[in-house]
Amino acid sequence: MTEQRRVAVWRDGAAVAVPAEQPVVTAFDQGLGRGDGVFESVAVVDEGTPHLDDHLARLDRSASLLALPSPGDAAWRQLVAAVLTDWPAGLEGVCRLFLTRGLGTGTPPTALALLAPVPADTLRQRTEGISVISLGLGIPAGFRADAPWLLGGAKTLSYAVNMAAQRYAHDRGADDVVLTSLEGQVLEGPTSTVVWAAAGTLHTPPVGTGILAGTTQARLFARAEADGWPTAVTAGTVEDLHGADAVWLLSGVRGAATVHTLDGVRRGDADLSRRVRELLAR
Ligand code: PLP
Repeated sequence: MTEQRRVAVWRDGAAVAVPAEQPVVTAFDQGLGRGDGVFESVAVVDEGTPHLDDHLARLDRSASLLALPSPGDAAWRQLVAAVLTDWPAGLEGVCRLFLTRGLGTGTPPTALALLAPVPADTLRQRTEGISVISLGLGIPAGFRADAPWLLGGAKTLSYAVNMAAQRYAHDRGADDVVLTSLEGQVLEGPTSTVVWAAAGTLHTPPVGTGILAGTTQARLFARAEADGWPTAVTAGTVEDLHGADAVWLLSGVRGAATVHTLDGVRRGDADLSRRVRELLAR
C-alpha cells in the first residue's frame, strides 16, 4: 500500500514530489500545532480529478475566511499533477490539499497535496448505505452567520470535533452522524452534506447556519433541477428526516451514501437512490 501513497509539497515556487514517508513540515508548523489551516478532499477517478475546479474555488473561499495567503490555482494544479503521476489506472483515490499558516503570520504558508486509495470502508458505505445517529452541536442555527471568528463555511483543518463525533457514532455501532443545532435543526454530517427527498423535492439545509457548502450537493441539485426534480433549501429537523422518502449524506469521495438507519430506526429510500447516483454520474 505504501507505494500507492503520494505526497507533493510547494517549495520555492514549484511542486516537488517527495517520498510518502518523508517529513514535509517542521514541528513548528501552525497547521500541526493549532489546526490553523484549510483543506480539501478531491475524488480521483479514471486517473483524473473531474471536480477539481469546484474544490479549488472552495479552498480559496476557506483561505480568505482565515486570512491565509494561498499559492493560487496554478500551484494547486501543479501539486495535483505531481501526485497523480503514474497513479494506477482504475484505482479510485482521494487527493487531499492542505494549506496551513506555516511558521506563522508573515511566513510562507505550507501547501501540499496527498494522494491515497479510497478506503474500503468508504466504498462499502457507498454501495451498502449507512446507519446514522443525530448528535447536537450546541450552537443556535443562526449564530455562526454573525460570528466570523467561528469560521462557519470554511473547511478548516480543525476537524477534531468532527472526528470525535464519528468515533462516538462508531462506538455505538453507527457509521456516521447528522449534526443538529441547539434548536434541533439539521446541519450537516461531520464530513458530508445532508440531503433528503420529501413531497417530490430534494432538500438541503441553509448554508447560513455555518455549514460547509457541499460541492457534491451543488452538483446534484443543478442536475436534478435540469432533470425536472425540484430542489429547495429547507430548515429541517430530525423528525423531517424520519418522515422523508429518502435521506443521503453527500460528499465528493463517498458520493451519495443512503441513510438506511436513523437513530436506530430502519428507513427506506423509496427507490430514489438510483436516480441520485445516475444524476451524480453524469
Ligand atoms: N460538510 C463537511 C463538514 C465536509 O467535511 C464535507 C466534505 O468535504 C462536506 C460537507 C461535503 O463536501 P463535498 O461534497 O464538497 O465533498
